[in-house]
Amino acid sequence: MVAAHTGASVLTRSSVGPILERGNVVNVVLMGPPGAGKGTQAGTVADLVGVTHVASGDLFRELAQQDSELAQLVQAYMNRGDLVPDDLTVAVVMDRLDQPDCQNGFILDGFPRTVGQARALDRRLSEESRRIDQIINLVVPEDTLLARLSGRWLCRRCHSSYHSLFSPPTWPGLCNRCGGTLYQRDDDTLQTAKRRLRVYERDTMPVLDYYRAAERLVDVDGDRPVGEVSEALREAIMTSRMDV
Ligand code: ADP
Ligand code: ADP
Ligand code: ZN
Repeated sequence: MVAAHTGASVLTRSSVGPILERGNVVNVVLMGPPGAGKGTQAGTVADLVGVTHVASGDLFRELAQQDSELAQLVQAYMNRGDLVPDDLTVAVVMDRLDQPDCQNGFILDGFPRTVGQARALDRRLSEESRRIDQIINLVVPEDTLLARLSGRWLCRRCHSSYHSLFSPPTWPGLCNRCGGTLYQRDDDTLQTAKRRLRVYERDTMPVLDYYRAAERLVDVDGDRPVGEVSEALREAIMTSRMDV
């Protein structure tokens, strides 16, 4: 099923015809530092190619709202800008990928963030005769990342991303896509954003090396208008389907 896409985009359904006609599963990992545009792009592109967008940060934000010790623990890691430990992260994400709506394909956003998570993902999928078809790395310079994070607004209901300057909603405070209310994340302060970028360099850049060594990584320039980046991502995913 292809979900209706209502956001502004240069893409059309017919432009992704070959993916849909073949009805093939396509599993994509979208890498990139905090603020690179993973959430913005993954939602749009997942709708277009008819797969499910899975964002580990969204899963943890939902978990953190529960009334439990585990929720408080997760919230503490997030507020500091630290990663949640691998065991818990792998369990939460794999449980999501095992749901029926992920069997026809998914775009993973925010996971894996450590080499341990990347290995666990490969291992767990191969046990189920599944695999990652395409790994895409969104490349954006650090000063742009900080500017993006400090102006980010998110929809409470559908998790769509907006920016107060770069991509404001049509109606202030309201989501274009679903009408939900927008909020700013507690961890999008300049101090925590800088910490998250350091954690990214230390723990997540080695994941890029892991995938690059296996010639599984494609770089995409994310420092362009949203529609141009979407088009480049669509092309990258199309190419991976053609290669199968
Ligand atoms: P961003 O969109 O800014 O990259 P996310 O929403 O993906 O941030 O993640 C927010 C926070 O959730 C992270 O700082 C971390 O605490 C936690 N988190 C998300 N994904 C992972 C992961 N794969 N491993 C560990 N922690 C994670
Ligand atoms: P990530 O999920 O990688 O952390 P987001 O998709 O949440 O990143 O985007 C971070 C911020 O940057 C949001 O405010 C979003 O509106 C904005 N943004 C995303 N892509 C672009 C772009 N190509 N140009 C300008 N701003 C962008
Ligand atoms: Zn919304």
